[in-house]
Amino acid sequence: MTLVVATHNEGKLVEIQRILADDLGPDASHIQLVTAGSLGLPDPVETGVTFEENALLKARDVASRTNLPALADDSGLIVDVLGGAPGILSARWAGVHGHDNANNALLLAQIEDIPDGKRGARFVCASALVIPSQDSQTAEASAEFVRFGEMKGSIIRKARGEHGFGYDPIFVPDDQPERVDEDGRPLTSAQMNSSEKNAISHRGKAIKAITEVISQHLL
Ligand code: IMP
Repeated sequence: MTLVVATHNEGKLVEIQRILADDLGPDASHIQLVTAGSLGLPDPVETGVTFEENALLKARDVASRTNLPALADDSGLIVDVLGGAPGILSARWAGVHGHDNANNALLLAQIEDIPDGKRGARFVCASALVIPSQDSQTAEASAEFVRFGEMKGSIIRKARGEHGFGYDPIFVPDDQPERVDEDGRPLTSAQMNSSEKNAISHRGKAIKAITEVISQHLL
């Protein structure tokens, strides 16, 4: 069975593949993952106002173009003192899509006066699975499922770490591995290796939860 992942990022496919293999064991081999990018499908405009709406919109778009089951996710950072921002605008908080350094610099400036201990934040991820109806005669509706994951932590004052992307260098997750960094500090998610981060991340948790739905409805 083919499952299309609504992304142009092959790295996301690898992460999903690893979670499917961990959770489904040999059954994972019944699912062939392909990305929307590899099928030449366009990225839809994300007009939703919640992570859930955007994840669903991306999965629906791919499912309707391919008539295959489609998986999509949408995520972002929620900073307590900013009342939910940057939220769905996380990727373009400083104005240009994917400009991570500018996004981090703007966020740090905005909360500069907020004391330590009041700099709580969390990453949220919505993962959506859309299974198109196989019977066009009956106009049966497609089946839609959404699951969520979050990673709580806080925003530090100065970026550290080389891994990851986005806000990782300024975010210290509450859930920490055994080790600390060379200066004895808790790790930012950019100082964690990918398996340390995936084990606690919003995306890892949301994909794990949707994997359960995949095993119930697609295997
Ligand atoms: P996407 O929906 O996964 O593309 O994420 C949207 C934006 O949220 C990214 O461009 C990042 O700015 C931010 N973001 C989402 N997940 C993470 C993460 O795991 N680490 C750091 N930033 C993230």
